[in-house]
Amino acid sequence: MRTIVWFRGRDLRISDHEPLRTAAAAGEVIPLFVLDAELAAPEEARRRPHRTQFLLESLRELQSNLVARGTALIVVAGNSLELVPRLAAAWRADRVVAHRSTEPEGRVRDRVVAAALGDKLQLTEGETLFPPGVLRTLANTPYAVFSQFARSFRRSATIAKPLTSPRVLQPLPRDVRTRSAAIPSCDTLGIVHNPAVLTGGERAARRRLRQFARAAVNGYADGRDRLDLPGTSRLSADLHFGTVSVRQVWTEIEAVAHGTGGGEVFCNELIWREFAHSTLWDRPELLTEPFRPAFRGFPWQDDAAAWQSWAGGQTGYPLVDASARQLLGEGFVHNRARMIAASFLTKHLLIDYRRGEAHYLRFLTDADPANNNMGWQWSAGCGCDAQPYFRIFNPVSQGERFDPEGDYVRRWVPELAELPARFIHRPWQAPEGVLRDAGVRLGRSYPRPIVEHGFARARFLALATQHLRRSRTDSRRPANDVRELPTHPPGQPNQRG
Ligand SMILES: Cc1cc2nc3c(=O)[nH]c(=O)nc-3n(C[C@H](O)[C@H](O)[C@H](O)COP(=O)(O)OP(=O)(O)OC[C@H]3O[C@@H](n4cnc5c(N)ncnc54)[C@H](O)[C@@H]3O)c2cc1C
Repeated sequence: MRTIVWFRGRDLRISDHEPLRTAAAAGEVIPLFVLDAELAAPEEARRRPHRTQFLLESLRELQSNLVARGTALIVVAGNSLELVPRLAAAWRADRVVAHRSTEPEGRVRDRVVAAALGDKLQLTEGETLFPPGVLRTLANTPYAVFSQFARSFRRSATIAKPLTSPRVLQPLPRDVRTRSAAIPSCDTLGIVHNPAVLTGGERAARRRLRQFARAAVNGYADGRDRLDLPGTSRLSADLHFGTVSVRQVWTEIEAVAHGTGGGEVFCNELIWREFAHSTLWDRPELLTEPFRPAFRGFPWQDDAAAWQSWAGGQTGYPLVDASARQLLGEGFVHNRARMIAASFLTKHLLIDYRRGEAHYLRFLTDADPANNNMGWQWSAGCGCDAQPYFRIFNPVSQGERFDPEGDYVRRWVPELAELPARFIHRPWQAPEGVLRDAGVRLGRSYPRPIVEHGFARARFLALATQHLRRSRTDSRRPANDVRELPTHPPGQPNQRG
């Protein structure tokens, strides 16, 4: 049997790769990757510099791993919708195997290719631990509350042992004659290689996983929230591009930290990933619309100056600015800093969460439509099991709690580095002498806050309350939808804050 193994950018590995294993067991294997316009066109790639860099490195390593096992990765530039069926015919392939796509764009692609190939296209699970869109409430609806989803997940999912990589693969069949395109380099795409971006590829992913399992998972329950410490796994880009499978991560962490606080909390985060993917599977429209209908038509403001300040890390709130600069500097942002920055953009500045979502998609190495959309909607208060709209992060107290010495800020906002910890998250309250000694000139070397926290909080609450009340009145939605609107008094704790 001759099989095309179609790698699609979410499974750039040879270990725990079921399509590759089944193809290898059945005979001839033709590993294929299609360079679509996003990658082949320099201007598109330059728009997403960090993830392009990571992807290219991962692809190169995949190629050399396949070569080391006796075969090669055939890289073809073009449109996969048209190319894959054409190559399958030209190469007389008996079948094309791949991991099933879980995101809307990939699902459309799979449908179109399946229409051309029929049952020759065989898709296997693997992007998530459990197939998305399967777990259901008793009323047979998708879960909208994470804790319920997580309980159901833990009851239902049995996680099989990861597969090892094939030791040897048959050489490419002689009659498969297509000139493989070169994998572009950052240089050819006009991207300046950024050494601060995580290294792509399976080897680096395994190293990160081992390092986290050995050194950090036990302290993860507390450490994950500390902005100044390396308390998290940094596996998000690997999980997105599939340089490690989520099953490999789950299994390794279960093996070293089963039943420990850190292990449990970490696996819970992997279940958040499952929840995000399952939610987007059931509701692809979330990529353009808020989960809570009451937020439709929210009067977001189009404030160009505020947007520039936020995106460029010049809001005058050190923690918010550190997160913006970390994003641009290394294509990563700590989870808590993402939450604070997203809350600030949407609630302090009243800017549509979808602008922030698009900005993150552009600059994050781990940019992932499902996780990113859930994160943004959660932060704006309009999402699935979201932080309630009336919960508004205070960037100062968050900084003091999760970056107590100000080291995160010092790293990313060096113009404040000499300030004492007491004022690092609130430089505008520092006495003149302290500012002078630290070399800080407010309004010159570092901005004053572009908006006052108390004022911004009250403004958002008034606007949101008014909007939600109006949409409740206008709504012709059934009563259970109306109940979904937040009605709790301000100040209620939330499970993730
Ligand atoms: C506004 C906003 C935008 C976000 N955008 C993305 C994104 O584009 N891509 C992305 O992978 N994550 C996103 N997240 C979730 C989270 O911030 C990152 O997954 C995490 O910071 C990655 O760091 P880590 O690998 O060290 O995480 P760890 O704490 O080590 O967690 C392990 C893994 O669990 C998963 N995970 C952790 N937290 C979440 C979460 N809240 N939702 C879904 N999965 C989670 C990730 O795959 C992560 O790699 C976003 C969160 C927010 C608030």
